[in-house]
Amino acid sequence: MVEYKQAGEDLQLYQKNLQQRIKNLEIEAAQEIVDEMFAILDGLEGAVYVSDMKSYRILRVNKYIKKHYGNNILGKKCYKIFQELQDGPCSYCTNDRLIIEGKPGPPVIWDFRNTKTGRWYHCIDKAIQWPDGRYVRMEIAVDITERKKGEVELRDSERFLNMVFESINDPFNIVGSDYRIKRANESYARMRGKRVYEIIGKRCYEVLYNRNTICEDCSVRETFDSGKPFTKEKLLILPAGLNTWIEIFTYPIIDENGKITGVIEYTRDITKRKKAEAERDILVDRLQYLLRIDDLTGLLNRRAILEKLEEEVNRAKRYRSQLALIICDIDYFKEINDTYGHDIGDKALQIISSLIKSSLRNTDIIGRYGGDEFFLILPETSMEGAKEIAERIRFIIKDFNLKLNKNKSIKTTVSIGVAEFDAGKEDINSFIKRADNALYVAKDKGRNRVYIIGDE
Ligand code: GH3
Ligand code: MG
Repeated sequence: MVEYKQAGEDLQLYQKNLQQRIKNLEIEAAQEIVDEMFAILDGLEGAVYVSDMKSYRILRVNKYIKKHYGNNILGKKCYKIFQELQDGPCSYCTNDRLIIEGKPGPPVIWDFRNTKTGRWYHCIDKAIQWPDGRYVRMEIAVDITERKKGEVELRDSERFLNMVFESINDPFNIVGSDYRIKRANESYARMRGKRVYEIIGKRCYEVLYNRNTICEDCSVRETFDSGKPFTKEKLLILPAGLNTWIEIFTYPIIDENGKITGVIEYTRDITKRKKAEAERDILVDRLQYLLRIDDLTGLLNRRAILEKLEEEVNRAKRYRSQLALIICDIDYFKEINDTYGHDIGDKALQIISSLIKSSLRNTDIIGRYGGDEFFLILPETSMEGAKEIAERIRFIIKDFNLKLNKNKSIKTTVSIGVAEFDAGKEDINSFIKRADNALYVAKDKGRNRVYIIGDE
């Protein structure tokens, strides 16, 4: 009986020992697997460590961690080593999320920034079974600081670009090489009677101008073709029927290979400037007109009539065409002034001016040379024709009653000198001189007459 008992106890002990040996073998085998796994993980350019989920003590690390934190960190608490926290685990510790219903759950993947070093890590945390049977936490963390920096820089430049876009009040947009609108601000869309969301991604000529080909006067194309900035002014017919003058500036967007990938288009409303320019042009025209017009009679003034005469002399020379000049001077005009006063004299000058003007043809040119003296330029007119016109003027004035006021009208006469341009022989000065000499003779011969040199 005793022997049996002895034998039974021996068997139990044997079985226990055997179980322990099997367990040890299992642990050893599991340990071997872990060692093999870490032999691989030692080659990883990232941190791998295993820690106890209750005590937070570090159980295993790869070479990368040893390199950065030294060889003596096994058994130390992970939050003390990695985050230099003294009081307890990190607030964002993933331990609680790794075990689900008593078993290892799926990995928790997350990015975190070490507040001490400022570096970013991409982490994969997973609960695994350790060779001794407990569940431990394994973390693989890869340094992604540079990538994050790139992302931040990209976001910063994107934000900067957005701010630039928003800060520009004038219409602003970017067109891709396929003429699709990549970006546009409100102002650009509004100018075309659209909203930004309606035009983004659409071809500009389709969505803005209802066309199926690029506009003939497209500024964007100019820049795509030349690769250079381009500027032009354009009258825009707006949907509301309000026409607007715009100035368009286009700039190429060039990639690192020198290829034009898009065009920036900046538009400025220059309607006000255009209006001011138009008003200025009108004023300048008016001023130039006034500078050429005699105040009292409305005829061309001395400067203007001499310019016209020069033009006609040049024309006559070039085309060998006929040209006549009549100089007409009121007889004893001083007496009118002296008798009736300067104002009446002015009125007489106005009436005589319009009388002469109305007796000329459309092609003839009349100007007040000065005082009571008038120049009449008669293009394509022979001496005979000029003489006839001169006589007609003399008669009209001689017969006319100059009505100065209700009760008073006076009569006056003019003396006229006529010359025909001799293209082969003379210049403008001798032409005027001959006509003036003729006038002098007409005066000398008793006034109220027409005289032509050599017409004795
Ligand atoms: P003649 O027959 O020799 O031409 O005698 P005249 O009195 O007409 O003398 P002349 O042509 O030499 O003088 C022109 C006069 O015309 C001199 C000036 O008093 C007058 N006169 C010149 N310009 C104006 C003007 O703008 N208004 C008025 N009212 N008189 C003017
Ligand atoms: Mg006179």
